[in-house]
Amino acid sequence: MPIALAVHGGAGRQTADLPRDHERRDLLRQALRAGHQLLARGAPALDACVAAVAVLEDCGLFDAGRGSVRDAAGVVTCDAAVMDGATRAVGACACVRGVRHPVELARQVLVRTRHALLVGPPAEAHALAWGLEEVADGWYLEPTGPAPVGTVGAVACDAAGRLAAATSTGGTSGKLPGRVGDSPLAGAGTWADGCLAVSATGVGEAFIRTAFARRTADLVELAGLDPATACRRALGEVAAVGGWGGCIAVDAAGGIHLVAGSESLHRGAIGIDGVARVAVAAGEDPA
Ligand code: ASP
Repeated sequence: MPIALAVHGGAGRQTADLPRDHERRDLLRQALRAGHQLLARGAPALDACVAAVAVLEDCGLFDAGRGSVRDAAGVVTCDAAVMDGATRAVGACACVRGVRHPVELARQVLVRTRHALLVGPPAEAHALAWGLEEVADGWYLEPTGPAPVGTVGAVACDAAGRLAAATSTGGTSGKLPGRVGDSPLAGAGTWADGCLAVSATGVGEAFIRTAFARRTADLVELAGLDPATACRRALGEVAAVGGWGGCIAVDAAGGIHLVAGSESLHRGAIGIDGVARVAVAAGEDPA
């Protein structure tokens, strides 16, 4: 089975590269290599997704982990999810702060509990009890200058043909305290089953209203659409309720699909050849 991994760093409405996008392109490549190294050693798709997302959570140039945007009260809260397509196991956390890697907390919810989603201070307390790395408020970047670009995510197909997805975000800038978007919700911003793994980015409420990620997988499995067409169709439904965004998907044959439904999608892919290719503008070929 061909191994495959894709990552995204958020969808945007800008047509030109943003300041520091050359660094973001490098970081997407780093994330791809981190995940690919694991896949090449036979590691599960889920582990590759977590490793790739963790790189992007740490860098401060995306709206996740260290770079998470602030809510209306000036506070950072993060949401993340992982899903294992082989077992349909899900782990997620929402409205958490002070946890260096929300994606790792999501994985630990999957591994250690019988629950799918833990939120807020109790989730943070579990993170601490499970030995996850804590960070102080000063670790988050100060909101000076333009907001970091988007949510981050990864999808992978491992050597055994198992699929997985992971998404991590600080949500939308100026969100109401307590707001949770699509990213940590299985079926909305994150999904993996035996046919398709999907990670989305964009206006979370629209992705929730259209059950986007599950809808995309169903369009492949039940309606027989090819994955790229399914992504575009589901993004059309997001647009129909006033949203916009993009997604990445990987299918069970290791096919990678990077679909920008707005002007830009920070994205990248790596396959069996081990070459990391990235792109930002909607029409750009990954290179
Ligand atoms: N979908 C994310 C959310 O609504 C934001 C984004 O992808 O930029 O929380």
